[in-house]
Amino acid sequence: MNDSTNREKKVNSDTSLNFIEQFIQEDIRAGKNDGRVHTRFPPEPNGYLHIGHAKAICLDFGSAEKFGGKCNLRFDDTNPIKEETEFVESIKEDIHWLGFDWEDREFYASDYFGQLYDFAIDLISRGLAYVDDQSSEEIAAQKGTPTASGKESPFRNRSMEENLDLFTRMNAGEFDEGSRVLRAKIDMSSTNMHMRDPVIYRIIKRAHHRTGNKWMVYPMYDFAHGQSDYFEGITHSLCTLEFEVHRPLYDWLVDNLKTDDYRPRQIEFNRLNLTYTVMSKRKLQELVEEKLVNGWDDPRMPTISGLRRRGYTMESIRNFIKRIGYTKVEAINDFALLEHAVRDDLNKRAPRVFAVLDPVKLIISNYPDDKVEEMEIINNPEDESMGTRKVPFSRELYIERNDFMEDPPRKFFRLGPDREVRLKGAYIIKCTGYRKDKKTGKVEEIHCEFDPETKSGGPASNRKVKGTLHWVSATHAIEAEVRQYDRLFNHEDPAGQKEHDFKELLNPDSLEVLRGCKIEPTLADVKPLDKFQFQRLGYYCVDKDSVPGKPIFNRTVPLRDTWEKVAKK
Ligand code: ATP
Ligand code: MG
Repeated sequence: MNDSTNREKKVNSDTSLNFIEQFIQEDIRAGKNDGRVHTRFPPEPNGYLHIGHAKAICLDFGSAEKFGGKCNLRFDDTNPIKEETEFVESIKEDIHWLGFDWEDREFYASDYFGQLYDFAIDLISRGLAYVDDQSSEEIAAQKGTPTASGKESPFRNRSMEENLDLFTRMNAGEFDEGSRVLRAKIDMSSTNMHMRDPVIYRIIKRAHHRTGNKWMVYPMYDFAHGQSDYFEGITHSLCTLEFEVHRPLYDWLVDNLKTDDYRPRQIEFNRLNLTYTVMSKRKLQELVEEKLVNGWDDPRMPTISGLRRRGYTMESIRNFIKRIGYTKVEAINDFALLEHAVRDDLNKRAPRVFAVLDPVKLIISNYPDDKVEEMEIINNPEDESMGTRKVPFSRELYIERNDFMEDPPRKFFRLGPDREVRLKGAYIIKCTGYRKDKKTGKVEEIHCEFDPETKSGGPASNRKVKGTLHWVSATHAIEAEVRQYDRLFNHEDPAGQKEHDFKELLNPDSLEVLRGCKIEPTLADVKPLDKFQFQRLGYYCVDKDSVPGKPIFNRTVPLRDTWEKVAKK
């Protein structure tokens, strides 16, 4: 085997390339675009990015990176009605957080309004576009169906002069919104509905966030997109499957630019859909505006900012996206897979600490009143380099209320009268009694004795007991608020139900706020976004509203997958 077949073989067996990257590689091999690879990520600044966008970002930036190319950030700001600068800023923050960078290539479709307008004039001059005076309803009624051709507009054969005059006056503000549009003159009997004289410009009399009141006509997405790709030298325009049927129009428009230096190539892939959530900016916006969640970055939202606040790491999101991959078939991915990815990541990185969410007092009657021992506890058994910390131990502790039962069944391996458990990193204790509140019947205090020989690392520390509990010292504990999040919707596919609006399917128990939780004192100086494993409970992340002395934690995920149980409910 000679060198080149060797190389060939290596490339062919490179399974790390997804199908789109394989296309890109073929283009490079065929010498297209002088071997250049240039992609773009084109968000519309009308909302915050969600995890579906992360899938597109990883592909757009990731494939450029892989082939030594470039990726532009282009805001698709062709609709002045819905766009806001707040969204532009959040989008940039989220892309950076995911670990990608567009360098100095921050562009806006509105940068090309002049060129696009000139191109429209050019199409009119060549008899390829016309002004239609009909309403959008009339135009829609003439569209036909996929099996029956459409009807030509009575304005289709206007003279070029009249079209030029009308289009210029549309832009001068002489006509009302909705009274006229500019359409490409293609083919009303095309089997592709998008080729049946699509609208390419409409009148909108609204200030634009970047161009102010300069324009009264605005290009439609389809008209702006391919041309913007061309103007920026984009070689591979990667988008989701719903644009596959738009591709003939994309190609028709680029062809009609009448240039021959190069052509951008559109390739489609499947969207990311996740169970138990919605993934459309419009729907997410409804949740925000109707205050059904606390903003775009509510930790229950599938937005990048929500997931970040919830405690997801960028690595876990990128690993999840790598795992689900890119295909040509629509699918819905299990939310549990995303949770698995974050558990996998935090398992190795998050220090393990003690937090008692529903505290009950535990009094060790044979432990000296004024004694405090500093117990040395390993931060993460998965990674020794994370070291140890000292946690104070004293006569009065807190443990979880549900770690004690007055009359436990045989298989309850926690605490009950006369039973023994290990307090993690400290001693083995035996329950000697308990006291209940007379009125409420609630257990107020649990009494026990410790065995000094069983101190962690001591002579009898290996003695076998079935259960190990976490604890915090009552006098040293810090109070915390803990927000327990559950899935946002009760239905696997809330957006796909005909008989229900998606908002009717919201989970009323998606947030439970626990106050008066007791956490170990080593957590006195935590900062927003710090991440921990609360031992035996789950992964938790410090919320952005947290302040010193009043820490707030968000539950990222419980330790184990509770999803299956949920699905069967
Ligand atoms: P939405 O339907 O949520 O409003 P959109 O497609 O209108 O999304 P854009 O801002 O236009 O949102 O999207 C920017 C890019 O992100 C596009 O290339 C789009 O194809 C891609 N994208 C949007 N949603 C998803 C998704 N769920 N999975 C993968 N890519 C997506
Ligand atoms: Mg869009």
